[in-house]
Order: sequence, then C-alpha cells, then structure tokens
Amino acid sequence: MTVLARARDLSRRFHGATALDGVSLDIRAGEVLGLLGPNGAGKSTLINVMTGLLRPGSGSVELCGGDPRSEATRRVIGVTPQETGLPETWRVAELVDFVSAHFPDPVDRTELLDRFDLVSLADRQAGGLSGGQQRRVAVALAFVGRPRLVFLDEPTTGLDVDARRALWEGIRSFHAEGGAVLLTSHYIEEVEALADRVVVMDRGRIIADGGIAEIRGRVRLKRVTLTDPVLPELIGVTSIERDADRAHLLTNDAGALVRELVTAGASFTDIEIESASLEDAFLAITGHRRAT
Ligand code: ADP
Ligand code: MG
Repeated sequence: MTVLARARDLSRRFHGATALDGVSLDIRAGEVLGLLGPNGAGKSTLINVMTGLLRPGSGSVELCGGDPRSEATRRVIGVTPQETGLPETWRVAELVDFVSAHFPDPVDRTELLDRFDLVSLADRQAGGLSGGQQRRVAVALAFVGRPRLVFLDEPTTGLDVDARRALWEGIRSFHAEGGAVLLTSHYIEEVEALADRVVVMDRGRIIADGGIAEIRGRVRLKRVTLTDPVLPELIGVTSIERDADRAHLLTNDAGALVRELVTAGASFTDIEIESASLEDAFLAITGHRRAT
C-alpha cells in the first residue's frame, strides 16, 4: 500500500529537553491513524515536524514523495494544529473562500460546510463563534484543498458531544472517499470510533503500534475498588493505589481477581468494578501518570 508519509529516526530537543527520541512512522494511503499518549509525549512535536512546521534535530521526513517544507507538498496535505486562531472579523464563508484560493481544485464551499455541519454558521463572523464552533471551522479548513492526508492535532478537545460527532462525521466521509488522517486525541472512544490503527507515544518514543483491537486489548483494564481491604499477594494486578480507606486495583481480568480475593479470604467491603479510564490505560502501558 502506498506510503504517504515516512518519518525516519526523528529526534528533536527543546532547550535540552527531549521531545522526540528516534521516532520512525509510516502513514499509508487511506488509513486513519490515531496517535495517543500522555501530555508532553511528543505528539504535537511529531505532527509539526512531519508537516514541515518545525525542523527535526535529526532524522528525515518524506511527505507524499517530497519535502514537507516545499509548497508542492503542502498543497496535498491538510493540517489543523493543536492551537489555532481565526481572524475575528471574517465570516466563515469568507474564510473558506480565502483558504480555497490557495488550492487548484478546492471542495465546493457549501459541500465542505455541510460535511462538517457548519452551513448555519456560514455568514457568522469568526470572532462571534463559540470556542467549539471556531474549532470545528479550523478543522474543516484542513479539508478544503482535497488533501490526500490530513493531520489533526486534538481536533475535538473541549467540544461538546454533538460538535464532536459532527466532526467525526466529517472525518469519516473524508476517510470513506479514500483520504488518510493522522489524529491525536485524549479520548479513547474517539480513536476507537475513527481509527484503523493506533500508535501510542510516551516520552518522545513510540511504545505501541497496532490495530485498534490489539491496543484496545491492552487497555481493556478494569478498575476494582474496595473499602478497608487487607490484601494478600495478588497476581494479575497491574497496579494498586490507595486513597483514605479505599484501594484501587487495576486488572485485565476482574473476575479472576475477585475469585482470588475470595479464595485468599481477603477482608473488604463495598466492591466496585468499572472500566478503566484512558488515564488508567496510559498508566498501564507507560508505567506512569499523564503529566497534566
Ligand atoms: P504532546 O503534544 O504529546 O503533549 P509536545 O510535542 O507538545 O507533546 O511536547 C513534547 C515535549 O516537548 C514536552 O516536554 C514539551 O514541554 C516540549 N516542547 C514542545 N514544544 C516546545 C517548545 N516550543 N519549546 C520548548 N519545549 C517544547
Ligand atoms: Mg500536543
């Protein structure tokens, strides 16, 4: 399958701090790749280097067969960085037309706005939109030039559920037409809803790369919470945390853990079993908490 983006052994430091530490990654035509990782893992730095916004300290990037910093290459990709700003007095339709003018075969404006459920905002000034509406416009603009590959850095952070779903629909229809996407997200369900493949980064390195089912398996953790437990040695527990009189145990097999507790005659009350959060999943994969 055609490789659209090829990063090889990328490293990048900021004032002595390592943001990327030998990252190699291929993005293939037509795939939606979800990039997960705790804050500070290097996701935005990777996107910025791959899209030519930032120079790598070492390593190389080939984007659609060319240099990410060349104009010809930039015309076949779309990017929405983590932080974006729109000119306040411009109307949404004007913004779309302005960005369209930079591309040889832009998507029809109404079609684009419709795809991202933005038609009703076409005549509104960007400065008068809510933060979530501005974000949706900023993401939609990445698709104006009929790119082959789009990079979206936390496209839906801070959006409400409806706005998030509207964006998902836009991304899905692009994918259905054969477009490739790399997106970062804090929401495991978002990656699950959209991505064919998941890459997990931590401390500037790729620590997992696989199909959605495989990664989901690695994060199919349960959080078992007990009050006043006197715990025996337990196998199959990924981690134990305590606060006040509660103990929180992470495990891949809650049933086996409960049987183990009972068999060992452990004392406890108020047992609760819930799905682990993405936070917990990161803890399990990376061995440390997200630096939020
Ligand atoms: P992520 O997007 O996964 O949260 P980033 O790529 O933004 O991670 O950051 C990776 C590391 O590089 C962090 O330690 C961050 O503080 C540092 N970093 C990123 N950009 C800069 C910058 N412009 N100047 C200094 N340090 C930076
Ligand atoms: Mg980031």
